[in-house]
Amino acid sequence: MPTLLEDLLSRDSQRIWASACAVIRLHDNPALDGLAAHLPHIEQETADVDLGGALFPNAEHLQQALRVLRLRREGGCPCRLYPGHLMYDPERETKAGRVQILSTDESPDRNVNYRCRCNTCGAEYNVEQGEYHYTWWQWRAAD
Ligand SMILES: [Zn+2]
Repeated sequence: MPTLLEDLLSRDSQRIWASACAVIRLHDNPALDGLAAHLPHIEQETADVDLGGALFPNAEHLQQALRVLRLRREGGCPCRLYPGHLMYDPERETKAGRVQILSTDESPDRNVNYRCRCNTCGAEYNVEQGEYHYTWWQWRAAD
């Protein structure tokens, strides 16, 4: 089986997209560090690959995966990456032990709003769940 690194460097849009999604969900810090060590190479090899995507541009998954790897190199709490990407499901992040949901409320338009706290740094976020062809979550740092 090819490694994530081989997939990211494959110049094959399908493999890059799948491996970018895997990096975003990866909870294995040594593995992330291993990939982050190759970040300049990954950036270089993916820069001009057309990733396509119908409803949601697949390139956005790659950009988020690159942000994840940059953060591993630069340091900082992973929760900083929640705002700016619409695919972080609070329920899934809670199951993964990264955040806890402090409260939820359903708004009249049936969208769900979450209040979440990062288990690592304690930062709190308001998360709006919405739907437009796919379910998305907008994270905003709470005051
Ligand atoms: Zn945090």
